Amino acid sequence: MAAKRVIILGATGSIGRQALAIMGQLGGEFVPVALAASSNWHPLAEMADTWGVREVALWNAHAAEDLIAARPDLAVRGGPAALSDLVEDVAADIVIVAVSGLAALQPMLAALAKRVRVAFASKEPLVAAGRTVMDSARRHGAELIPIDSEISAVFQCMHAVKPEYVEKILLTASGGPFSKLTKEELAAVTAEQALAHPTWSMGPKVTVDSATLMNKGFEVFELRWLFDVPVAKIEVVVHHQSIVHSAVRLKDSSVLAQMSLPDMQGPIGYALTYPERRVNDLPRLDLAARGTLTFDRPDTERFPCLRLAYEAAEAGATYPAVLNAADEVAVEAFLDGRLGFSGIPDVLERVLEAHDAQPDDLEAVLAADRWARERAGREVEARGKD
Ligand code: NDP
Ligand code: MG
Repeated sequence: MAAKRVIILGATGSIGRQALAIMGQLGGEFVPVALAASSNWHPLAEMADTWGVREVALWNAHAAEDLIAARPDLAVRGGPAALSDLVEDVAADIVIVAVSGLAALQPMLAALAKRVRVAFASKEPLVAAGRTVMDSARRHGAELIPIDSEISAVFQCMHAVKPEYVEKILLTASGGPFSKLTKEELAAVTAEQALAHPTWSMGPKVTVDSATLMNKGFEVFELRWLFDVPVAKIEVVVHHQSIVHSAVRLKDSSVLAQMSLPDMQGPIGYALTYPERRVNDLPRLDLAARGTLTFDRPDTERFPCLRLAYEAAEAGATYPAVLNAADEVAVEAFLDGRLGFSGIPDVLERVLEAHDAQPDDLEAVLAADRWARERAGREVEARGKD
């Protein structure tokens, strides 16, 4: 059987590296044929060498020029359209979308238009432009397979049942590193503390989103679009051990859950091999050794980002795009020390309140995205670190 050719967008990130690691374990069944990143060209070139890849792309045009100068043997594309060009140009069977931020949207649409399997980790395209992404997948008949562990869990459970049997999706949340802190303690949280996630090792943006519970809010959007369920059918359950990756409750009261030790290589591997399964070396779950699994309700009073996400998901239109863009700006400001931890939901709330919503076609989504970034920047400046 010929090896499946894989393009990895966001190759230098946490998901991109783990995708290469699990491909290595699957014994040549999947081979990378193109790799892309934003500006980290040194690690990208190293990866290309390790895996014998020649086709690469960098979003940052200056970084691409540096790479071209250093490595004339590589086929390098550079600039904001480079990832989409790479996807269009290089023959492949699977495109892994693991770029952080809304920058993932255009390359993801390019991948869907290619009618190949699109294995996506990036949340932002479905949050901000869920309708456009799903329309595109349907129109082109492309396969959209989730990598995010909770979404993969629901995807796996859904395979066992007819959609009409599902009464509720039980979306589990690790709760992040600050689940026990008071409101006052949360206000004093630093970027360094927020970046130390207890269970998962992820990129900085998604790690901060996990600490504010915005990440869980984003997953509500992913589920809502991918499985076409009303937001009210999605219930968040705090589960600190991250063993139950999510569950579905059926109308006869039965609950199906997907469990494993927390390791992103599991869901990445499944997105590649689906609907088949392959043997791998990942550590096995020993339930008796784990002892206790706990479940709790989220506290949206202390973690208002989750409430804001539900509200934006219910409101629809361009509110989700605004939420997504304002969150990118607020999290970046928090990481730079320009905004306090509690300032993140405050900025989002103000920007959402100020927004004049429009129907969510792609043009309106991109306009709302630009507007929200500018507005959030001003709110960050006005609010500062207090
Ligand atoms: P990282 O920050 O570790 O990596 C991000 C990757 O995207 C890097 O390769 C980076 O390149 C690239 N990138 C960033 N901006 C651009 C851009 N404008 N154009 C092209 N490439 C870009 O993030 P993660 O791997 O943790 O997460 C990636 C996505 O997957 C996010 O949407 C996240 O929410 C989602 N996700 C992550 C999980 C995880 O466990 N990490 C779990 C579930 C979902 P460079 O190195 O050059 O900056
Ligand atoms: Mg997740």
